[in-house]
Amino acid sequence: MADPSPDASPDASADARADARADAGLAFADHDHAHCAGDTLARAEAVAAARGARLTPVRRRVLEILLEAHRAMGAYEVLDRLAAEGFGHQPPVAYRALEFLVENGLAHRVRRLNAFAACMSPGQEHSPVFLICRSCDAVAEAPTEPVRAALAAAAADLGFTVERATVEALGLCAVCRQSAAA
Ligand SMILES: [Zn+2]
Ligand SMILES: [Zn+2]
Ligand SMILES: [Zn+2]
Repeated sequence: MADPSPDASPDASADARADARADAGLAFADHDHAHCAGDTLARAEAVAAARGARLTPVRRRVLEILLEAHRAMGAYEVLDRLAAEGFGHQPPVAYRALEFLVENGLAHRVRRLNAFAACMSPGQEHSPVFLICRSCDAVAEAPTEPVRAALAAAAADLGFTVERATVEALGLCAVCRQSAAA
């Protein structure tokens, strides 16, 4: 079994935070996504190897499919793709692979959309903060630290300790806001 404890070193996390900020901006902008996806896949592979989590062909393929765009995909959409590629038609094929990716921090569940998105900062222990564009369905992971700090401070005022929080904000990305205004 993979060890669920965080294993990112403190030095790596500052870099990773800067990366997360850059990635969040990229999701809503024109960018070299092939490079972005390839880079994230390579990081995910390194994380899986370090954790002793086996990226079988179907698990790896599901991650590649999720990485095709900055968008969340439903399990049945993933299953359709797997079926078309000969991985099988049974829903557990998709569900098990998605579950594996989520458990190992390589993907996240986006509850509002009942869908899954590849993690753009694999290997960093984090509760994601999602920004979801209601017009183009783009999904970005925002830098989590300021949001978590604000939430922790607000909770502390009430004598409450936050252990986990999922933040999903719905709105318009810059591109869609511009075309809505035009
Ligand atoms: Zn990208
Ligand atoms: Zn993430
Ligand atoms: Zn948009």
